[in-house]
Amino acid sequence: EWILHNDEFIQEDKLTISKEDRGYQFGDGIYEVIRVYGGDLYTAKEHIDRFYDSAEKVKIVVPYTKDVFHKLMYDLVEKNEINNGQVYVQITRGSYVRQHQFPADSTPVVVGYTKTVERPLELMRNGVRAKFIEDMRWLRCDIKSLNLLGNVMAKQEAHESGCFEAVLHRSEMITEGSSSNMYGIKENVLYTHPATNLILDGITRRTILELCAELGINVQQTPMTKDQALQMDEFFMSSTTAEIIPLIDIDGSKIGDGTRGALTEKLQKAFEARLNLGVQI
Ligand code: PMP
Repeated sequence: EWILHNDEFIQEDKLTISKEDRGYQFGDGIYEVIRVYGGDLYTAKEHIDRFYDSAEKVKIVVPYTKDVFHKLMYDLVEKNEINNGQVYVQITRGSYVRQHQFPADSTPVVVGYTKTVERPLELMRNGVRAKFIEDMRWLRCDIKSLNLLGNVMAKQEAHESGCFEAVLHRSEMITEGSSSNMYGIKENVLYTHPATNLILDGITRRTILELCAELGINVQQTPMTKDQALQMDEFFMSSTTAEIIPLIDIDGSKIGDGTRGALTEKLQKAFEARLNLGVQI
């Protein structure tokens, strides 16, 4: 398997990372996950733009142009012969003797690798259970930061309760999932948290909002309370790897009739139509 290290492709066993890499010590870096369908990078431009935006927000300069970066991602997928899968890519501020403030002169370190991942078709059809968990993260959730401890703790707690995802809330207001965006549907209106500093502006979320416009589903970008969420007709989550997965139960309360909702299914099918993979779901 080939790994991207800065601007070189190397074999995995040749990769070395410094003990003082700031990603390793501080989570001082950002990342992206780009989906690969049928050997092609999906919504590559959006992911690459967000990678550069996240880097800029934490004052890391990506050491090449977006075009060069795009080609590196493309070549990595091709070299590893990935058909359905993903690219994971991160950039850290590099390594330096441990100190909190930015080093005067460190060189950012990029690492990228690929993985084969199939579409979670069963989960997409049958839905999953979820759990409300207090959102304890910082106030810059718009940055795709390597600091994921808040997300990791929430996902673990959900997992220990036999749930697939955590529905995070700040006080009564639902923000997003531990690694996904969240949506409720009530009487043909889709509700989701606005793309503020409290959530990641998901690329899948943007596609879903476009599909709602095409399908005539009204959208209200206002946060739902936990009580409102439990009263929704349908509920679902979205992410690059999960696409659109129905939440059929939150905290032991059934959503709707406890099966995938009609509009959720419609959105899944419209999403799938954009992938040019034929009908699978
Ligand atoms: N929110 C969080 C916290 C996430 O980790 C993710 C997954 N990257 C998302 C939302 C969904 O974003 P996207 O659709 O771009 O994968």
